[in-house]
This record gives sequence, structure tokens and C-alpha cells, in this order.
Amino acid sequence: MSLEEYERDMTRCSRCSYCKFVPHVKWKNWDTAAVCPSISRYHFHSWAAGGKMITGLALLRGRIDYSDTLLDIVYQCCMDGACDVSCKNQRDLEPLEMMLALRAKLVEDGQLHPAHMVAIDGLKKEDNMLQQKKSDRGRWAEGLDVKDLTKEKADVLYHAGCRLSFDEELWDISRGAIAVMKKAGVDVGIMGKDEVCCGGRAYEMGYQGELTKYAEHNLDVWKNAGVKTVVTSCAEGYQAFKVLYDKIGKKPPVKILHITEFIEQLIEEGTLKLENEVPMTVTYHDPCHLGRLAEPWIHWEGVEKKVMGQMIVHDPPKTYRRGANGVYDAPRNILQSIPGVKLVEMDRIREYAWCCGAGGGVIDAYPDFAQWTANERLKEAEGTGAEAIVSACSWCERNFLDTVKENGNSIQVLDIIQLVQKALV
Ligand code: SF4
Ligand code: SF4
Repeated sequence: MSLEEYERDMTRCSRCSYCKFVPHVKWKNWDTAAVCPSISRYHFHSWAAGGKMITGLALLRGRIDYSDTLLDIVYQCCMDGACDVSCKNQRDLEPLEMMLALRAKLVEDGQLHPAHMVAIDGLKKEDNMLQQKKSDRGRWAEGLDVKDLTKEKADVLYHAGCRLSFDEELWDISRGAIAVMKKAGVDVGIMGKDEVCCGGRAYEMGYQGELTKYAEHNLDVWKNAGVKTVVTSCAEGYQAFKVLYDKIGKKPPVKILHITEFIEQLIEEGTLKLENEVPMTVTYHDPCHLGRLAEPWIHWEGVEKKVMGQMIVHDPPKTYRRGANGVYDAPRNILQSIPGVKLVEMDRIREYAWCCGAGGGVIDAYPDFAQWTANERLKEAEGTGAEAIVSACSWCERNFLDTVKENGNSIQVLDIIQLVQKALV
């Protein structure tokens, strides 16, 4: 939708500032009451979702011009949607959708962030978000006994994603996912060097056409490969395939599962047995793209009506995505199935989880802000007494690992698959 279509939301923003916080009734501690990295770091209302509502409206009505500050306000934002959940649960507005439309307008008007341009140029040339050669995309799987779906058939397609295809320090995660599936007897294959990006990160940066392009490509590839299920370890890819493709009218005709959902299913069926003792206290970080942003898309068509000259109602009634229906239980159920693992929770979890800082192109454009945000989360994790922060998203893990290296935090950073592998006999 265009920015014009959010004019009503922008005018209805009441400047209440709920979007800066976890709802008051859920507060556990003043230090963990905040939910928006952008306002918490930059301390000026324009950086909050409500401030971006005002900025978007002023831009739309021609009251302000583009400036470097305006670009910082828009791009110094993780697009993690915590503000959106807080606002919707109290005011029923959709600031995240407005911010996506605002970024798309900036891109359309040529107001680009240089780091995003580098990422998008790389994407257009090499089909990945890491500016790597597409011919190297399958290297992560060298030596693995896994089917090549460009030549043979399999029931399940494993999509590694850009980060797990090229970030060698994280290859244990994609290789581990294949090993776990093979151990459970899953008929799995990969596209290797022919795998391409999901288009989701480009969409969040404001380059919405890239999502359509990659959605059409991926849907064709899956159809030709004859797969029924696509499994991915990339939370961003999962959200793009399951939610964004549906949002733009390209709902995949195959089952989309995150690796945590698939493993939970294998454990329940009894095909995967986690029997080794892993004596460890861990805390779990909900990735935004697996949690609140992964809630299924709800299509709505209707009109807004004013009742008694004041109240806005939707006809037919509109159902909002309020963040509670993301993937929260599968990773926790897996952790609790591992003998010896003790799960301790942070204050901000599930739909109110604090972002890792890597989303929305922030890790590309403002690495210091990305690491500041990650460090806030690592401090929260350390406060639980856990030895490790476990997650299920390679972008979160990359940002946490870089931050630990920079700041010397004491906590380990692990992907859930690494614990699952330790528990396998
Ligand atoms: S965006 Fe929503 S929560 Fe934030 S100030 Fe506006 S109405 Fe309040
Ligand atoms: S998306 Fe995240 S960083 Fe951006 S305004 Fe919302 S809560 Fe703040």
C-alpha cells in the first residue's frame, strides 16, 4: 500500500507513546520496559514509531523536505515491529505498515541510503544480500550427503538463506540442520548454487519490487522441483515465504516450515530422539521474523466508516495481527525436550521481545546502532544467569557474535540446532 493509504492512521496517531514501551501491565522491570531500539538509542520522539507517523504525514502534506536527518529518522529503525504490536494492542493503528510505505516512498523518490544501495546492487547482480558470488552459494554444503534438487527429487527442500550460505562462521548451523534431518530419515534436498534470496530484506529496506521478483522466481523453482515442503533455518526467509509472499498475493502452494517447527514435529512423531544429557542453563531470544512478524497475513477488504461523527469502524470488521501468533512454542518445546537443558526466560519475550538490532538494513547501514541494540539484549540475557543465549535466526546470531567480540560479553551465542546436535546419540 502507498503512504497515502496510511494518511488516516497518521492523522489518528494520538502521540500517546505506547509504541515506545511494552504495555504497562506486562512490565517486570524499569530497565526492560522499553521496546523500541530506535527511540531508546536516539532519545527524540521523531525516532519512535509515533514520530515517524508525524514525519510521514508532514512529508505527504508537503510541510517538510527531504534532509539527512529525515533519512536517519527513517533508516535508523530495525523494522522489527515491536512498536506495531504495542500500538495495535492499545490504539489499533499499524505503524509498521506505514513505515514500510514510507521507506518505499523514499526509494521511489531516490532518497536512498548508500549502504542499502550497495546491498541492493549486490542483490541484483548476485541474488544475495551479502555481496558474494552466486556461484559460491552452494559451498556451505560441500561434502554433505544431500540431494541436489536441480537434478533429482526429494520431499523436502531445505533453503539455507543468504546468511547461512555465505557466512562461513555459521556454516555449522546449515550443515547441522541437514545432519539432523538426515538422522531422522527425512528425504531432503537443496538447490545449491541455484538457491536465491527470498527478497524479504530488500522489501524492508523499501525496495518492494525485489520481493515480487524473488517470490515469482522461488514459486516457479519450487513448482519445478516438485517439493511439497520448504524448510528453512533463516527466520527472515521464513517470514518472507510465509507472510510477505501471501501479503503481495503470491501465497506459496507448498508448506513453509521453520526448522524449529520441523524438528518439533520430528520429535513428536518419535523419528528424532534427543537423549544425550546437555547440562546447560540457557535463555531463548525470539527473533522478530520468527515471532511477531511471522504471524500469518490476514487479508481484509472493506471500508472505514465514521460513527457518530467521531468513532472509526471497519465494515466488515477488521482482524488485526497482534503478534501473539508467531512461532514461540516450537523452539521452547525443543529446548525443554533436551535432557539437562534448563530454560530461563528474559523479561521481554514472545511478541514483546527486544530486537537483536540486525533488521531493516540497520546492520548494513548503522553497524554501531545494530551492536548497541544487540548489547542491550545480551545484558538482559546475562541478567537471567544463563550460560548461553540461544536463538533460531542467523542474522540475530551474526549480530550477537560480532557484539560479543567487540564488547567481551561473557555469554555464549548458540543456534538451537547446535544444542539439538549435542543431544543426539
Ligand atoms: S504510533 Fe500508536 S502507540 Fe505510537 S504514539 Fe501513535 S498512536 Fe500512540
Ligand atoms: S520497528 Fe523497531 S526500531 Fe523501528 S520504530 Fe518500531 S520498535 Fe522502534
